[in-house]
Amino acid sequence: MSMFSIVTLREGANAERVRRSLAGLGLWVSALDARDGRPPQLLIHEHSALWDPDRLMAIEGVAAVARPDSPHPRLDSQPAVLEIAGHRVGRGEPLTWMAGPCSVESEARIDALAERLARWGVHFLRGGAYKPRTSPYAFSGHGREALRWMRQAADRHGLKVVTEAMDTEEVGVVAEVADIIQVGSRNMHNYSLLRAVGRAGRPVLLKRGMAATVEEWLLSAEHCLVAGASSVLLCERGIRGFDTSTRNVLDLGAVALLAHAHGLPVIVDPSHGTGRRDLVAPLARAAIAAGAAGILVETHDDPGGALSDGPQALPLDDLRELVAGAPGG
Ligand code: PEP
Ligand code: MN
Repeated sequence: MSMFSIVTLREGANAERVRRSLAGLGLWVSALDARDGRPPQLLIHEHSALWDPDRLMAIEGVAAVARPDSPHPRLDSQPAVLEIAGHRVGRGEPLTWMAGPCSVESEARIDALAERLARWGVHFLRGGAYKPRTSPYAFSGHGREALRWMRQAADRHGLKVVTEAMDTEEVGVVAEVADIIQVGSRNMHNYSLLRAVGRAGRPVLLKRGMAATVEEWLLSAEHCLVAGASSVLLCERGIRGFDTSTRNVLDLGAVALLAHAHGLPVIVDPSHGTGRRDLVAPLARAAIAAGAAGILVETHDDPGGALSDGPQALPLDDLRELVAGAPGG
């Protein structure tokens, strides 16, 4: 049933010699690009003859052979704890907090916010410079200027940056400033963007498409990794259901599945998940209980005056309380 399997090599192994030994067994093999901190790996393709882990393990230089039961082997072989710009996220690590406005609105505002967020224990400053808006008439972000404001604010106050690239043309400028490149829900199926973001070689925060199955989401993450992303963090942000009483249906079952059955770090975004600021804190706590490795929250110093997503923006005091009251806060 599998399409691929992965052979991990020992340190110092001669990858070309191992590849030839595998090819000699009738296996169709290609090398995976080297990644920082990861041992070299080879990929065995679908329809290869005589896949036999014991025979493969007997080849000199082979350290491990992943079972051929997954269509997203690179995601599966991602470590349970990711190190992103010196910050560790994943199993057994303290909760990761990502917070900021929906869109970066001004230099002074993002700087004042970053100062507070850093003081309250937030790790990543989030904020859109390029905003995917359902209406073509809605505010769509301050672009490059906003990227600069956000990077400067983050650096001044010791935060990391997560921000969205909406278009293949923006990937380069976003990659220059972002510690994590966000791919938004509306773009989870945009494979050319996933590839372009992957080619930047940076960590990716991949939001779940609002009508995507878990498996489609994981395969989109695999696209980023195949193209060269150093790691992918999955972000649950709610899916479309039949009930419109909340903006989306935050799928905490999927969070538990990924965290506990797949061993993957998941970030949960209760802001887009509910669309209502009064439900953000309870669902953040539920997400933590379900196994989230981190929480992403939209916040604003004047939620009523926000240029986008005001109704779901958490007032600053509420955010401070949420972070302080969470495990490890
Ligand atoms: C966002 O994070 O501001 C955003 C647009 O999210 P999503 O892609 O989940 O709608
Ligand atoms: Mn938003």
